[in-house]
Amino acid sequence: MKTIALIAHDGKKADMLQFANDNKKALAKCRLVATKTTGSLLKEKVGLAVKCYKSGPMGGDAEIAALVANRKVDAVIFITDPLDAHPHDPDIHGLMRVCNVHNVPLATNIATAKLIVSTTGLFS
Ligand code: PGA
Repeated sequence: MKTIALIAHDGKKADMLQFANDNKKALAKCRLVATKTTGSLLKEKVGLAVKCYKSGPMGGDAEIAALVANRKVDAVIFITDPLDAHPHDPDIHGLMRVCNVHNVPLATNIATAKLIVSTTGLFS
């Protein structure tokens, strides 16, 4: 079973929930991990089983980055909000960096998240 990390900044949480709803069947076939608020919403509003780590600003992105560095995550869907400032910017960049270091698929917008779901076979 593949493991997918799901994270969305506050301004993108509604988009993430819509994406998760639209792709619920595929996502339900994976082990899902998420930062706290994103994961709680996915559980509550979409009904997916999600293991939640700390909230992003409290170190959750860094925890997910550690999973990626240890090859425990097969893809990261991290819907970022480029129009907002984030106190945990260094952690955000750290997570993106480890994805690139380890060649782990990383979607930072919904269009790419849809491509990952439809083309990689991760979710089949
Ligand atoms: P959250 O964290 O899911 O706890 O809101 C996401 C983030 O801001 O990185």
